[in-house]
Amino acid sequence: MRACILGGGFGGLYCALSLHRRLKKSAQVHITLVEPRDRFNFTPLLYELLTQELAPWEIAPAYQDLLKHTAVDLRQDWAEHIDLDQQRVTLRHGEPLAYDYLVVALGSQMRPPTTPGSQTHTLPFNTLADAEQLERRLASLDHLPKVQVVVAGAGPSGVELACKLSDRLGSRGQITVVDRRGEILRSYPERIQRAAARALAQRGVEVYL
Ligand SMILES: Cc1cc2nc3c(=O)[nH]c(=O)nc-3n(C[C@H](O)[C@H](O)[C@H](O)COP(=O)(O)OP(=O)(O)OC[C@H]3O[C@@H](n4cnc5c(N)ncnc54)[C@H](O)[C@@H]3O)c2cc1C
Repeated sequence: MRACILGGGFGGLYCALSLHRRLKKSAQVHITLVEPRDRFNFTPLLYELLTQELAPWEIAPAYQDLLKHTAVDLRQDWAEHIDLDQQRVTLRHGEPLAYDYLVVALGSQMRPPTTPGSQTHTLPFNTLADAEQLERRLASLDHLPKVQVVVAGAGPSGVELACKLSDRLGSRGQITVVDRRGEILRSYPERIQRAAARALAQRGVEVYL
């Protein structure tokens, strides 16, 4: 039996590892993971790159290391086409992959922000590459006595990023969080909203709702 998993994010990687664990006694099952990147991005820890609490290799371990004690067959490639009738996936570079079971775990794409200027004048914060780009930008401002940063969005990412930026910049940092809705962490329980508000206030982060 051939199980093919497209995408090596949290969904795809954990699916591959869990299938391997459950099925390892069965030599009949061949698990293939298709992922174009060579490193898994542990997104919840991206912020720690800015404060240098963690190094890139800790946040983004190589798939080869993560999978080396498993029988998961890693194809570093893009899935370009799925033929459901033929049960086959066309890859950008490699041979087509035939499967019996297919898992599609290709993630999602951020809706481009519609605020004028946001496409050209903001930095995203979704991947290791984004975090490294932000880190480079901050490093290029090291000589300035004051650094002002505006974080758009007071969801979990915006709040954590604002706190980490404040920790990173210390007294040089002037951090502001802006959200068009009337509260921070809108879908979270009140006690978590209060804890987040406290964390922002303790760091002197300004919040505009
Ligand atoms: C900064 C940040 C912090 C976060 N913190 C948390 C948190 O604390 N808790 C939490 O629950 N969630 C958190 N999230 C959200 C979490 O990262 C996502 O919910 C999760 O990554 C979704 O997993 P996924 O496998 O569906 O997709 P993804 O992780 O996006 O994985 C999709 C994978 O598919 C691959 N891919 C794309 N196209 C192709 C193709 N054509 N062929 C082959 N492969 C392809 C991509 O390279 C990628 O590796 C955070 C997100 C960010 C950005």
